[in-house]
Amino acid sequence: MISEILNKTGLSQSDIVTLLETQGEDRQELFKYSAGIKEKYVKNKVYLRGLIEFSNICGKDCYYCGIRRSNTKVKRYDLSEEDILNAAYYAYKNNYGSIVMQSGELASDKFTERITRLLKKISEFSEGKLRVTLSCGEQSYEVYKQWFDAGADRYLLRIEASNRELYHKLHPDDDLHSFDQRIKALKDLRKAGYQTGTGVMIGLPFQSNDDLANDLLWMKSIDIDMVGMGPYLEHKDTPLYQFRDLLLPKEDRLDLSLKMIAILRILMPNINIAASTAMQTIHPQGREKAIAVGANVFMPNITPCYVRGEYKLYEDKPCTDESPEDCRACVENRIASVSNDVAYGEVGDSLHYVQRQSKRQK
Ligand code: SF4
Repeated sequence: MISEILNKTGLSQSDIVTLLETQGEDRQELFKYSAGIKEKYVKNKVYLRGLIEFSNICGKDCYYCGIRRSNTKVKRYDLSEEDILNAAYYAYKNNYGSIVMQSGELASDKFTERITRLLKKISEFSEGKLRVTLSCGEQSYEVYKQWFDAGADRYLLRIEASNRELYHKLHPDDDLHSFDQRIKALKDLRKAGYQTGTGVMIGLPFQSNDDLANDLLWMKSIDIDMVGMGPYLEHKDTPLYQFRDLLLPKEDRLDLSLKMIAILRILMPNINIAASTAMQTIHPQGREKAIAVGANVFMPNITPCYVRGEYKLYEDKPCTDESPEDCRACVENRIASVSNDVAYGEVGDSLHYVQRQSKRQK
């Protein structure tokens, strides 16, 4: 039985590995325990983030990613400012409380200014009531600060693997893909004032359960406010695809992802944890399962349909042909199916962030 581990005040790396390997009744006990922690600290409610994937143009070449610069098979797009603002307005009018603006990574004055302009316009029409998460990769501290001052509140920068060696197996060995720079960027985000988020891929080739346990302990050590993590899904037009024979079956990657979410909820009870779309790719109720064991954020895709199919970091991505209206009804049903409520009209700040801010002010 795993009760002894669950009732400890802190989890060690070997405790986490034991939890990741649970099966049968022990696995159920883990999930029941993490669900209880979730209810106690962040309640059974789910915050919405309307996801706008506004451009799939990327200057980087991560080995696992379907929209990497070298993949010439991708049809590139960059939404107009009008389309982006319309999508943001849709989220605002429908009481989503917040949006995520995500793109490939570009570093240029033009890109920086465009985002700044959009943030100011969103802040203006919503009177600052629509929270904005950016997920636009590594930038300088000055750029992060400029975007924060223009109205961005949160930033998601996934480390993908906190083990330096594994990170280098996933990225080219050059300055553009430096592990140290990624870590620095996470520190800069926090310094600039953001609710800071990160995440990892689960079930990568060359990854061990020790690595996954260390990923969770690393997130705790950097005192992260929010996490988006999910199963690694291979894309055939990427270099990492050659190692597909090393992968666990997809169902096992989903199972590991659910356990990672459950354990993270136990380790960091008051952070925000997203139910990733990748989970739904493996199982139709993948995201609901994530909510049931600890996730409290759901990201309905509100990117205009005519480009949605082109933002494929991995294959078989779900919900690429539904309108935002279809998406809304579907989300409500999904969340209700696991006895959680949609927190309409709530901005859903990470409680962890709110509490660390108030400690700072004392
Ligand atoms: S993971 Fe992000 S930064 Fe890397 S290639 Fe894909 S979109 Fe670009």
